[in-house]
Amino acid sequence: MSLIFKIHCYGKLYEYGTLRFLLYSVHKAEELFQYERYAGYDRTAMDILLDAAKDWADQDYYPYFKEMDEHPAYYKDGKVHTHPIVKKIFKKGGEDGWIGAYFDAEDGGMQMPYTFYNAAIHIFQAANNHLPGYIGLTSGAAHLISSFGSDELKKKFIPPMLAGEWSGTMALTEPQSGSSLSHILTSAHPTDQPGLYKIKGQKIFISGGDHEGTDNFVHLTLARIEGAPEGTKGISLFVVPKLMPQADGSLVDNDVHAVADFQKMGQRGYSTVHLVYGEQDHCYGYLVGEAHHGLKYMFQMMNGARIDVGLSSASTAAAAYYASLQYARERLQGARLLNAGEKPDSKEQTLIIHHPDVRRMLLLQKAVVEGSLSLLMECSKYNDIAQSDSSEKGKDAHLLLELLTPIAKTYPAEMGRVAIDNGLQVLGGYGFCTDFPLQQYLRDVRIMAIYEGTTAIHSLDLLGRKIPMENGKAIKLLSDRVTATIMQSMSYPELAPYGKVLGEKAGVLQKTLEYLMGYAMKGDIRNYLADANIFMELASTIVIAYQWLKMAVAAQQALNEGDTTYSADFYRGKVHTMKFFFKYELPKVDARKEILMSDDKLTIFEDENEVIF
Ligand SMILES: Cc1cc2nc3c(=O)[nH]c(=O)nc-3n(C[C@H](O)[C@H](O)[C@H](O)COP(=O)(O)OP(=O)(O)OC[C@H]3O[C@@H](n4cnc5c(N)ncnc54)[C@H](O)[C@@H]3O)c2cc1C
Repeated sequence: MSLIFKIHCYGKLYEYGTLRFLLYSVHKAEELFQYERYAGYDRTAMDILLDAAKDWADQDYYPYFKEMDEHPAYYKDGKVHTHPIVKKIFKKGGEDGWIGAYFDAEDGGMQMPYTFYNAAIHIFQAANNHLPGYIGLTSGAAHLISSFGSDELKKKFIPPMLAGEWSGTMALTEPQSGSSLSHILTSAHPTDQPGLYKIKGQKIFISGGDHEGTDNFVHLTLARIEGAPEGTKGISLFVVPKLMPQADGSLVDNDVHAVADFQKMGQRGYSTVHLVYGEQDHCYGYLVGEAHHGLKYMFQMMNGARIDVGLSSASTAAAAYYASLQYARERLQGARLLNAGEKPDSKEQTLIIHHPDVRRMLLLQKAVVEGSLSLLMECSKYNDIAQSDSSEKGKDAHLLLELLTPIAKTYPAEMGRVAIDNGLQVLGGYGFCTDFPLQQYLRDVRIMAIYEGTTAIHSLDLLGRKIPMENGKAIKLLSDRVTATIMQSMSYPELAPYGKVLGEKAGVLQKTLEYLMGYAMKGDIRNYLADANIFMELASTIVIAYQWLKMAVAAQQALNEGDTTYSADFYRGKVHTMKFFFKYELPKVDARKEILMSDDKLTIFEDENEVIF
């Protein structure tokens, strides 16, 4: 095994202090402790939590990262076989309270601020992105039952799920219904017992849909009740357990079975299952909440999972960054570029980190990883405020979270992949070899722009739904926040020019939106949304630039005040990376504007079947 597989590179973002810098200096997460909901928590408790997360990651996550890739989950003899560590993760996740950490106390949770919970999840995901989804989906599924289920459902299902004895899943996708959930065919027929339905159909690609970590599985399943309206309005949500709990406490087979486990290019230790419901006409599920409101309920779990996928992308890219940084600090190759008047020394090779092009690749990784993580922490804080503050501030936080969720999922997934690819390049030929982890990070991160909604779907959501929502209120709120950060940057002569540039680029976004809105006003949705993906790139580049300016303001303030929480190099590194992002990434905004405002509509054909490919 290579040295960088042995060294725990993944934990550096935490060990070097960036995670705490983001939490406390940039996003002022301590403000959350003022809310009654989080009254029992303080910084000391949260620091202990993060230390515990790191210890657990060292012990049970990272050591199995390579092994889970080499020995993937597989289906044999009617069972999905997984790495034995999955069982241990469920057991400890239940015993130590991780699965229910952010749940209400009355539902058996710890009411932990989501912001700190996500900071801990970052550590697990960076250590081994094949594992956290197992318990993350169980949390999400139990949370859905706690939010919309009856007391009976809560009593029956939540305790064993939070204890890590039963798994939860999110069962939406069917062979004919992936991005478009309105085409779901799985059916639900009423029985004599109110709220209990007979379920028939199939679901594919279900993460953690079966494995050896737990005996029972609670599939949160979207299905259509007989006679329901067509489209998304006719979808209902059901709790469909693999083993149905009986009044006497026993568990009986409920005729929902795994029939295959998909073999994949990455995240190979995380099972991805094909489920068949009601083959023997004996599968039952409980309706959650009201009939035909299923998709609305499921959005709670989907939105949480989207932040989770963004976090997993940023965390995987963080691990890749520190591995390539380690390599660049050790690998001797080639000669240093010479200054004017310097003489070449043909005998001596330099460390590759001294090559400006290698530094460019490392800085790109740092800029993407920390920019993404900062956005994810901001979103997590909005979630906490939305849950705890009933004033206008809570409502604004909710709107901002809605607007930023598609960006917080997509930017880390798309640019995290680019960052890891650059990390692989830093390793040269070794990057391509399985003895080194970069190739695994690259394979693992690839799924993240696909599941939980592809990049195209999130781009349509951003431009088509989130920006126009409440007459553009969310984008106005975001714009106010960006302006406030620009104003703060004006107090520091070193940062003021960058604040000015961000203001100009925000103006480009505004102008582009006005142009596109022209189509929307005319009802020309095809032209409005045709390049939504390009709009996502434009908007997300500005949002990450805003994160970097925020980080630079916090760092510059610390430098000016002589704050020694972190070293001066640490703070200078933040300001420097902000400058890098503004020079190398932010200009993309203008190129994207050119595409979006061009009259050349090259992807739109009057005759959809025109043969040009
Ligand atoms: C490893 C893995 C784990 C998964 N886990 C789960 C899970 O736990 N639960 C679950 O329910 N599902 C899960 N999925 C399914 C996943 O969410 C879907 O694969 C994804 O939503 C895309 O659907 P699809 O594969 O059918 O592709 P399609 O929807 O067929 O898309 C194919 C291409 O067409 C594009 N496209 C589709 N519609 C549009 C449109 N309207 N406008 C523009 N472009 C469009 C897409 O962006 C994509 O590029 C998982 C998938 C994988 C591979």
